[in-house]
Amino acid sequence: MNANTPSETLALHDTPARPDPRKAVFEANKLRKRLHRQVGKAIADFNMIEADDKVMVCVSGGKDSYAMLDILLSLQRRAPIHFDIVAVNLDQKQPGFPEDVLPAYLKSLGVPHHIEAQDTYSIVKKLIPEGQTMCSLCSRLRRGILYRVARELGATKIALGHHRDDMVVTMLMNMFFNSRLKGMPAKLMSDDGQHIVIRPLAYVAETDLERWAAHRQFPIIPCTLCGSQSNLQRVQIKAMIHDWERQYPGRIDNMQTAMSKVVPSHLMDQRLFPFTTLKTTGVATPDGDIAFDDEPCAPTAAPADPVNNGQGQTVQWLRTPSNTIVAAAGAEAED
Ligand code: SF4
Repeated sequence: MNANTPSETLALHDTPARPDPRKAVFEANKLRKRLHRQVGKAIADFNMIEADDKVMVCVSGGKDSYAMLDILLSLQRRAPIHFDIVAVNLDQKQPGFPEDVLPAYLKSLGVPHHIEAQDTYSIVKKLIPEGQTMCSLCSRLRRGILYRVARELGATKIALGHHRDDMVVTMLMNMFFNSRLKGMPAKLMSDDGQHIVIRPLAYVAETDLERWAAHRQFPIIPCTLCGSQSNLQRVQIKAMIHDWERQYPGRIDNMQTAMSKVVPSHLMDQRLFPFTTLKTTGVATPDGDIAFDDEPCAPTAAPADPVNNGQGQTVQWLRTPSNTIVAAAGAEAED
């Protein structure tokens, strides 16, 4: 029996649900563990950091590089090997750049740091005619300065804050605009041959970095100070992959995993596979091509959990008796 009077009942129903602080702590903890696990895995998979390395962590004032520094400092405290971290910011003298924010933040962390002030903004403005893209020259200048600073600081690794989504977007941009199947590597030798560049956030989703930045309340510096619009294509492709991800959860991860499972015999690069001299061996290859059939659109292994197909239905992947994976529309998706 309801003992409340009608007005009491109304008042109870009108009270907005208060966020449960225990849930917020639980979620932040879960996120922290995931970030640590993914960064630790990237470091291990690509042997990014070795004993006695001095890692120059490039910090721009954006959410990604703040998160990278934050996670690396935390991993450094628990790592079984010794390595040093030096945070570096390049102040390119863009109009409105708040030059006190990063030094104050880095000082508060007690992390060794260096601020390199170089007015590349004026150089780029002077050399690039109005209305043309400034990014290519700007990033070339920035790269040269960072390499020099790394040399002067005795850094053995240069860490950049690009994440999983950046890597997928770069691969698509290279396909769309440069006719290259080429992404953004997790580890590479710099173009001057002198440095090893690493991307410890290679497995981290951008949405997780946004949430971590909000949780940690990093003093974010806006990234639009130069006024350049030339990254519009990148912005559009990023919006496109996030739209796909909303419709087909897991797609960005799949695209990135594809970058580590390349099958040269099923592409067209004659430098990677000897198509012109290909001969039969007479031996069947169980994992070989099914010659005239299209590849199945379904995953090769049926995911355990149903997924939302973006049309209000959940889809369960089923394996048929002929060992084909098919999608079966199930119940209406729950909100
Ligand atoms: S967006 Fe601005 S700061 Fe970034 S590379 Fe382009 S010109 Fe340079």
